[in-house]
Amino acid sequence: MTVRLFNPTMELLDRTSLRELQLHKLKKLVVRVYEHSPYYQAKFDAAGVNPYQLKSLDDYRHYPFFDKDEERISQERSKAELGHPFGMHITCDPRLVNRISSSSGTTGSPTFSGFTRLDRELAAENCARGMVRMGIDPGDVVLHASVISMWIAGMPAIDSMMAYGACVVPVGALSGVERVAQIANEVKPKMMRTTVSFARHMARTMLEKSGIDPRTLGIQKVVVTGEPGGSIKDIYSEIEAGFGGALCYDNMGATGCHSPTGISCEEHAGIHFYAEDNAYFEIVDPKTMTPLPIEDGVEGEIIFTGLERECGPLLRWRDKDIIKVTTTPCACGRPGVRMQFKGRVDDMLLVKGVNVFPNAVRDVINSLSALTTGNIRIQKDHDEAVVEPPVKVLVEIHPGASDAERADLTQHIVNQVHHHLRFRIRPVLVDADQFEIKSGATGKMQLVEVSKNA
Ligand SMILES: [Zn+2]
Repeated sequence: MTVRLFNPTMELLDRTSLRELQLHKLKKLVVRVYEHSPYYQAKFDAAGVNPYQLKSLDDYRHYPFFDKDEERISQERSKAELGHPFGMHITCDPRLVNRISSSSGTTGSPTFSGFTRLDRELAAENCARGMVRMGIDPGDVVLHASVISMWIAGMPAIDSMMAYGACVVPVGALSGVERVAQIANEVKPKMMRTTVSFARHMARTMLEKSGIDPRTLGIQKVVVTGEPGGSIKDIYSEIEAGFGGALCYDNMGATGCHSPTGISCEEHAGIHFYAEDNAYFEIVDPKTMTPLPIEDGVEGEIIFTGLERECGPLLRWRDKDIIKVTTTPCACGRPGVRMQFKGRVDDMLLVKGVNVFPNAVRDVINSLSALTTGNIRIQKDHDEAVVEPPVKVLVEIHPGASDAERADLTQHIVNQVHHHLRFRIRPVLVDADQFEIKSGATGKMQLVEVSKNA
């Protein structure tokens, strides 16, 4: 099969040329931030790294990381000292900022990302790479049934899709399933962009709520963002069936890079990372923070550096995601190492000495019964990673189950989680929509909360 690519020169670069290009850009980046930001100058000096002597990608391992807390503090300072919210680490004139996006802001005060015209163009370039891989051409109608906000998956995504030339219909998600159904029925989108939970909600309720069968809308592609799930078989299969055999794609972005940076394919074999020429990534051991070799099957925390970010470059940014990398060729024929989201560093639990990711618990539970909605919340009574079994887990179910069904499901969950993950949980069934779907800083669903009732 011939694969279509937006930028074959960059997307097909061999590894040696790619590493040379990354090093070339990295050398320019470290010098630029050092010379244009007193903040980076102090940071590099304190870490004992000399940007004028960066000779190899290995040298870059000695550079300090950047994380959300540091970004927040840097932005508090720039608000107070410089009168803008972009942080002390900004490397351009604030008057060049052309768009501001924000984190979802559910974990503390929001942080801001400024985009210059160049930053927007780079984001649009990466978006175009994803669109072509999905078979979307300029002029195709794209329904944006997701938030229309300053969050990166909102207005910034719309901006990039329009720059590509798609005919974007920003219907939003807040107006509800009926409205989305009505608009989709009129504009006949080829692609729909939405969240995992809203896609499933539409698939399950659209016919009943609006009289319009989502399988008849003719939507060929559903891109889901913001939450894990687009790569989980039960979830994407439900979305694909719900929209009459549409293909479901999972995508990924990277804070500080030129989001988006990857899209899955019809093989559902991981997310192809297609932006290595402008988004350099490392995989580190989350306990020691030591870089691991990028080879097939390596798993660890992903660290990003947007090589061409103009406004507020974040060097060695900790996105706090645990990623598994696949380097073997994909059956789809498209280039790009593939990535699988394994969990959040902050959500990692230690149960009986074993690392457990909350999404592993969720995946077991969701495979057991049609009664579950797909949402769970693990509760613990303290902020530490170590938890003692039985671990309390709120499991959201659809309303209408009898007492006997609820008792059976509870026992089934206890047994199956123990069978697959070797520890006991204490499930508490709650009716759908009883708990708010909270997202983490990067928009990923929060699966763990600290509660006095745990
Ligand atoms: Zn593929």
